[in-house]
Amino acid sequence: MSTVDNGPAVTSGQPMIFRNGLVLTMDDVRTVLPGADVLVIGERIAEVGVGLTAPPDALEIDATDGILMPGMIDTHRHLWQTAMRGYGADWTLTQYFVWYYLESGKLFRPEDIYAGNLLGAIEAIDAGVTTTVDWSHGLQTPQHADAAVDALEAVPGRFVLAYGNIQQGPWQWATSPEFRDFVQRRLHGRGDMLGFQMAFDVTGDPAFPERAAFEVARELGVPVTTHAGVWGATNDDGIRLMHENGFMTPETVYVHAATLTRDSYHRIAATGGSVSVSTESEQSAGQGYPPTWQLRHHDIPVSLSMDTSVWWSGDLFSAMRSTLGADRSREHLEAHGRQDTVTHCHLRAEQVVEWATRGGSRALGLDDTVGSLTVGKKADVVLIKNDDSPVMFPILHPYGQVAFQAQRGDVHSVVVNGRLVKHAHRLVGIDLGKARREVERTIEYLIGAMGDEAWARGMNPDIPETNLMDNPYTYTEWDAGSAQWKH
Ligand SMILES: [Zn+2]
Repeated sequence: MSTVDNGPAVTSGQPMIFRNGLVLTMDDVRTVLPGADVLVIGERIAEVGVGLTAPPDALEIDATDGILMPGMIDTHRHLWQTAMRGYGADWTLTQYFVWYYLESGKLFRPEDIYAGNLLGAIEAIDAGVTTTVDWSHGLQTPQHADAAVDALEAVPGRFVLAYGNIQQGPWQWATSPEFRDFVQRRLHGRGDMLGFQMAFDVTGDPAFPERAAFEVARELGVPVTTHAGVWGATNDDGIRLMHENGFMTPETVYVHAATLTRDSYHRIAATGGSVSVSTESEQSAGQGYPPTWQLRHHDIPVSLSMDTSVWWSGDLFSAMRSTLGADRSREHLEAHGRQDTVTHCHLRAEQVVEWATRGGSRALGLDDTVGSLTVGKKADVVLIKNDDSPVMFPILHPYGQVAFQAQRGDVHSVVVNGRLVKHAHRLVGIDLGKARREVERTIEYLIGAMGDEAWARGMNPDIPETNLMDNPYTYTEWDAGSAQWKH
């Protein structure tokens, strides 16, 4: 039996005050308040400032030597795949497509979707990611979709179900009566704790079969999120077809957008959409170079995402760090190619913290609700504090501290919608043991269904041969016969 940590004795609806933290409000002028308090009453942020008076029954959390910031927002994550955490560590997009789209993804039963979603959703809030878009493209039947939502509702995070099904064309599933029924039953009118998007890709087929799905989205008033500009999969034709047919809107989220020409970026910028940049994914899987260095030239809004725990984790600290690295790396590389030197980086730590918070709230149409520590907004709050860590002082550059120094283990407390879900580095009221048992059952089933050999082969793709360079400074040579260096 697992025990569930109930944390400090918080009664439902009890006010909460974080005392004496370095507050990154992420408001419109990015106000930073040293030694300040954040007061939460009910579901909302009641006050932010120095030396606040709290109601006598408020729970006090000491934020001394810590950073208070808004909950982070991941705009694209395939939570169902968390059941196979780390399995695809050595994959490219090719192995990913073969595994999930062609060979094995259809093995997933509703309970397997549930298992992955449950663990992935818990993983997100543990890392201070209070809002996650569940880019749920394994929903082969309404039962799978019910299981996905059951899991999201079992975890006290804020979620957006991006409904998808890679086993059918979007023109098939989106127009089915079962889909309509599901939306009515499980998604309609759920408020800001469970949002709704439609998730599908546009192949560039000149017949534009995706039109039918876009028309359903328009009729339902639901935003579309789409993997766009993915090398070898989606390209400029998909963007052009969407644009020419009037389906590019400010709510549209383009995931990756890494292999597009200037013409497509112009169309995205002109229609007001945003790009969800998944830097760790783009770097490993091969969708294209992480595009922030291009997006800034087109003034296209950015949010961040972690894509899938089959490779990476649901941890936006990694997203911020890798995005800074990739952007600066590209800038230096381009400059060196021109025999030039970059003396000032364009992308700043402050900007990636903004993308991890406000970038997400704006992309999801939730900017009046979350994204900053602003009085009146819903209270999604993260306290980064770790008194035992040598990395938590001195805090000189608070945005640099968040982007380059902090990690998920430093997430001390997390509040979602006014509810304390993590405290003193421990999840509160969350049954991790249940998630463990569900995932173990899924893995056992998948190995059984695939067979040990196929399971092992899927995890260990062949390594291409490395061509060793001749080295003019050595007199040694490799003797393949004796497997030794010859002198
Ligand atoms: Zn994806």
